[in-house]
Amino acid sequence: MAEDPKTTPTFVKAPHGARVMEITWADGHTSVLPHEILRGYCPCATCQGHGGALHFVEGGDQDVRDVEQVGNYALQFRWGDSHDSGIYSFRYLRTLCQCAACKPSFDPRRVS
Ligand SMILES: [Zn+2]
Ligand SMILES: [Zn+2]
Repeated sequence: MAEDPKTTPTFVKAPHGARVMEITWADGHTSVLPHEILRGYCPCATCQGHGGALHFVEGGDQDVRDVEQVGNYALQFRWGDSHDSGIYSFRYLRTLCQCAACKPSFDPRRVS
């Protein structure tokens, strides 16, 4: 399967203490991912339950302690409260982009 440049990250910028993460993709787009959004849309079963549309979960710790790559398809974050069960596929991260170009059409219900 050919890699899709839209979901192939070339650079992940996640400085300690920051509140926003940036991911640059092979197609030249830079995604702006506020921690609030990343944590609120944590895709794990604990946060999202089973089935139904994605929903925003408030109140999680928004401090990113650790970022790890999972295989060649996803990132895993460890949050300040040690929550680390969310596996964020690159496709999912791209969907969560909050940059000026993507934000107006952001609709988590379309995320599969
Ligand atoms: Zn979670
Ligand atoms: Zn974007």
